[in-house]
Amino acid sequence: MGAGIVGAACAASLAEAGVQVRVIDARRFASGATAAGMGHILVLDDSDAQLALTRLGRDLWDGLREVFPTAVERDPCGTVWVAADEEELEAARQRHTYYAERGIPSEVLDADALYRHEPHLRPGLTGGLRIVEDSVVYPPTATAHLLATARAHGATVEEQTSVSRCADGVVHMADGTRREADVVVVAAGIATPHLVELPGLVIQPKKGHLAITSRCPGFIHHQLVELGYLKSAHGGERTSVAFNVQPRATGQILIGSSRQLDTDDPVVEPEILARMLRRAIEFLPGLAQLPIVRTWAGFRPATPDNLPVVGPVPGSPGLWIASGHEGVGITTSLSSARVLADRLLGRTPPIDPTPYDTARLAGGATH
Ligand SMILES: Cc1cc2nc3c(=O)[nH]c(=O)nc-3n(C[C@H](O)[C@H](O)[C@H](O)COP(=O)(O)OP(=O)(O)OC[C@H]3O[C@@H](n4cnc5c(N)ncnc54)[C@H](O)[C@@H]3O)c2cc1C
Repeated sequence: MGAGIVGAACAASLAEAGVQVRVIDARRFASGATAAGMGHILVLDDSDAQLALTRLGRDLWDGLREVFPTAVERDPCGTVWVAADEEELEAARQRHTYYAERGIPSEVLDADALYRHEPHLRPGLTGGLRIVEDSVVYPPTATAHLLATARAHGATVEEQTSVSRCADGVVHMADGTRREADVVVVAAGIATPHLVELPGLVIQPKKGHLAITSRCPGFIHHQLVELGYLKSAHGGERTSVAFNVQPRATGQILIGSSRQLDTDDPVVEPEILARMLRRAIEFLPGLAQLPIVRTWAGFRPATPDNLPVVGPVPGSPGLWIASGHEGVGITTSLSSARVLADRLLGRTPPIDPTPYDTARLAGGATH
């Protein structure tokens, strides 16, 4: 249940394996976090487990590049992590070594190389780390493509159909009816803990703002992220902003990003938006000349350990969860689906599934 990118990826994986799949969503497909996301497909290494899942996800996205319709807007633009000072450049070198030891190509840029790649960055930056194999997709159409794949293998998709609870092998629908299935996969993002009884399952909404400019093709060439992003994304602060901008296929620049806990109000907050835009303009002064044509906010489904929950619900035969992908759920949708489908079908997943399993929640870990 759930036709965000994670549910769509699970549906495609299972339907392709011959499972009869029915996807249910309370609203429209890709109407939750997926509609709000940036679509940056990247390797990230908060932990070895995160690296394994993002790397597999990125590989699986790459594997689909030949079959994507143009609407998916896949752009193999790569990422440049921008270093603002010597300390950050040293962090870039260390990350380069860490990636090289694991066979992940990356390139340390000195200041000259950085400005050759991205001449509109402000003067005075020290360099960066270029991750050539990262890419960008447009999440709503990528989700539509995954659902179309599932449909092509016999799946059905029901929208405007709300579930109120999953328990005792039964899916209780909001309209009071009940449905049964051999297996139920709950991929309802931030709603998952309200639908499934699982002690220790904590998925918090982490609000994020985005803004998109009018068209200015060629202004930037990579997804550009400040190296300080990791500190601000996963540090202790309740509210943070970081420079994180993306070239869109339309020539527009998508500007992020902010992170806020303690709110479930989807309204765009002018103060947070202004902070985020100021940060972006500090790195890319020319952005100040580009009109912003749209702004919005969405909620990342965040877990306390920054890893998604992908596995069976103990004590509830046939009930599975794939939720809690925080800020990398577009990237890790395909790898999570692969892990889930492999486990469900008795195949061996290509990565160790243990770090994402529901078993780690036992004991009721909370914030
Ligand atoms: C600002 C922002 C930027 C981001 N940038 C990136 C990025 O660059 N790269 C990246 O990899 N990730 C990014 N993410 C994260 C990514 O968007 C999410 O992790 C991902 O979309 C989560 O997908 P999901 O399918 O789990 O959840 P959702 O997309 O929220 O889908 C859940 C679905 O469940 C349905 N549902 C809920 N309750 C019920 C119910 N009771 N009955 C039936 N259906 C129900 C909802 O309608 C919804 O469609 C970003 C997120 C945000 C907010």
